Amino acid sequence: MAKRDYYEVLGVSRDASEEEIRKAYRRLAMQYHPDRNPGDKEAEEKFKEAAEAYEVLSNPEKRAKYDRYGHSGLRGGEDYRGFENVSDIFSHFSDIFGSAFGGSSIFDDFFGTTTSQRTQKKTTGTPGSDIKITLKLTLEEIATGTTKKVKIKKYNRCETCNGTGAKASSGYKTCSACNGTGEIRQVSRSIFGQFVNITTCKNCGGTGKVISEPCPTCSGDGRVYGETTIKINVPAGVHDGSYMTLKGEGNVGKNGGPAGDIIVVFQELPHEYFTRDGDNVIYELYISFPEAVLGTEVEVPTLTGKAKLKIEPGTQPGKFLKMRDKGIQHLNSHGAGDQLVKINIHVPKNVTAKEKELLKELQKMPNIKVGD
Ligand SMILES: [Zn+2]
Ligand SMILES: [Zn+2]
Repeated sequence: MAKRDYYEVLGVSRDASEEEIRKAYRRLAMQYHPDRNPGDKEAEEKFKEAAEAYEVLSNPEKRAKYDRYGHSGLRGGEDYRGFENVSDIFSHFSDIFGSAFGGSSIFDDFFGTTTSQRTQKKTTGTPGSDIKITLKLTLEEIATGTTKKVKIKKYNRCETCNGTGAKASSGYKTCSACNGTGEIRQVSRSIFGQFVNITTCKNCGGTGKVISEPCPTCSGDGRVYGETTIKINVPAGVHDGSYMTLKGEGNVGKNGGPAGDIIVVFQELPHEYFTRDGDNVIYELYISFPEAVLGTEVEVPTLTGKAKLKIEPGTQPGKFLKMRDKGIQHLNSHGAGDQLVKINIHVPKNVTAKEKELLKELQKMPNIKVGD
């Protein structure tokens, strides 16, 4: 079964803060906690899945790897564990669970703090969307890594208004919903007394100002659609279907909203000579029967040009000859795979009378005959 995206598992955005990731995980851990779902296999799986996602995303280094290369950038056992049982998870994340589940930290967040929470950041505009593109790569490009320039169409920030959507400096007026404070206050009473709930004003997005006269270039959108050339640094060793994320290079949001990402999905093109096996490449070589018996030197293609290869006398069909380090560079580590040359014997379908005569002569020879 394909692994789910870790951000999706935790239900957070790709630019979620460490705190947001931690909170999301706590929430899921509570929801799927085995004490609350006795005997529920699905809940247990969800519990483990969330633990794995949290293990990666809570570690900046692992998260960076995951952001760039997805699941294929991570090594099981090293970057995340396949949690075998639930108690494993508790001992591993004791900082999150506290000494015992339900005893401390995990519940505090939910039931301890009822005072108004003002953690919302003041951001303007609406966030831009992600753009997904497919990048076709040859095996040669994958072997050494490459830089590609790609033209795409996307929303860029409007230069005229700097993304605000307002005409010069005169284009703003005070927001009437919040009287320019950027906040909406609601007072309510409960048995604990009066408390004030403060939320960001939706009308102005917390800025206290709204546009009165839109920018003539972008009609108030704060962004313009057009062609842009983007540069993609493809690391060596990427796999077909894996992807990397160019953070903040996607569509710019409306009215100065943060940009989405570009998600580059790699597609490996079939090769004329080679098939890929992990970081090795396999080449099928055909030699004649006399060459196999007597040995020879042949020229074979490699990912970096032609190279000579020695065939020892008595080489058997099906044998693989290794050309060390002529394969694909490893992703995220040093070294490269090999080129494996598979020996095949060319058997001609048509022969001349003369050849036939010689072959008949040959097959009588004691070392050529098979069996008695
Ligand atoms: Zn504009
Ligand atoms: Zn307002």
